Amino acid sequence: MPFTFTHLAHPPPSPLREIDDPLWAAARVRLFVKRDELLAPEPDDPFSGNKWRKLQYNLLRIREADRPTLLSFGGPYSNHIAALASAGRHLGIPTIGVIRGEPVRNPTLERAAADGMRLHFVQRGTYRLKDEPAFLEALREELGPFYPLPEGGSNALALRGCFDLGEEILRQLPEAPTHVAVACGTGGTLAGLVTALHRHCHCLGVSVLKGPFMTEAVRDLLARFTGQAWPNWSVVEGYHHGGYAKVSTELTQFMDTFHRRHGILLDQVYTGKLFFALYRLLHQGAFTPGDRVVAIHTGGLQGRPR
Ligand SMILES: *Cc1c(COP(=O)(O)O)cnc(C)c1O
Repeated sequence: MPFTFTHLAHPPPSPLREIDDPLWAAARVRLFVKRDELLAPEPDDPFSGNKWRKLQYNLLRIREADRPTLLSFGGPYSNHIAALASAGRHLGIPTIGVIRGEPVRNPTLERAAADGMRLHFVQRGTYRLKDEPAFLEALREELGPFYPLPEGGSNALALRGCFDLGEEILRQLPEAPTHVAVACGTGGTLAGLVTALHRHCHCLGVSVLKGPFMTEAVRDLLARFTGQAWPNWSVVEGYHHGGYAKVSTELTQFMDTFHRRHGILLDQVYTGKLFFALYRLLHQGAFTPGDRVVAIHTGGLQGRPR
C-alpha cells in the first residue's frame, strides 16, 4: 500500500513489547521496547523511528505551502538526510540535502539520490554557517525557494512529533513507566519526550557522542522551543564506544546476542549503544525493583553493515 499524507496524519501506534530476559527478571525490573523502527513504510526504509516522528508535523505543514521543497543539512552518513529523501519520495515532495564536505559517494547518499533528493555539497567552513540567515538566502538564490529544516531535523514541530510518541507510550501501558530511555544525537527526541512525560516518569538520554555537551544541548532545545525549563530528565555519558559511529567488539557482541535472544535488530550507531547502556545500568544497580523501563527503538536499521 502506498504511504500517503493520511498515514502521516493518523499513524497507527507502533508496537510496545516487553523483553523477557532473566537478567531483568532477576532484578525485578521490567524492560519494554517501543518499536518505532516498525513505522518504516517499507522494509529497511530510513523514514522510520524517531526520524519519522520528527518529520511528521514538518511534512504535514509543508503540504500547505504553495511551492513545497524541503531542504536540510547533514553529514554524509546522516540518517536524517536519508529519512527526508525517502519521505519526499513517498509523498511526492522535492527534497534538497546540503551535505557537509567534499562530494562523496556512499550507500546513504546514493540511496538519498535514488529517492530523488538533490544533493548539494558545501565545504566544512561554509557548512558551519548553516543556521545563518545570509547563508540560507544565498542557498535560495542558487537552489530556488525551500522550507528549511535544521541539521538532525530538531525544530519545534519535531519536538511535537516526539511529544506524541511520549503520549502514545502512556496510552499503551496500564501503569506509567518509571523510565523512558532513548539514544541522543542532537537531543531533539529526548527534549520532545520530556515535554510529554515529565509528570509521569524520568526520561533518560544515552549520548552516542564523545564529550559532555548533550545535557546542555537538550536544555537549549527545550528553552528555545518551549521557552521554559523542565524537570525529570538526565543524560548518561560514557556509552559512545570511542565516539560517534565508532564500534567496539563488546558492542557488536552485545547486539548479536540481543538479536539472537529477542529477535530485535539494533543499529550500531544509536540503538545498540542505548540497549548496551541499559544493561550496564541494570548491572550497576541503577534501577529499583518494581521499575518499568521503556527503551525506544528509534530505527536506523538501514545503516547497518551487511
Ligand atoms: C537520529 C537518530 C537518533 C538521535 O536523535 P536526536 O533527536 O538527534 O537525538 C537516535 N536514533 C536513531 C536511530 C537516529 O537515526
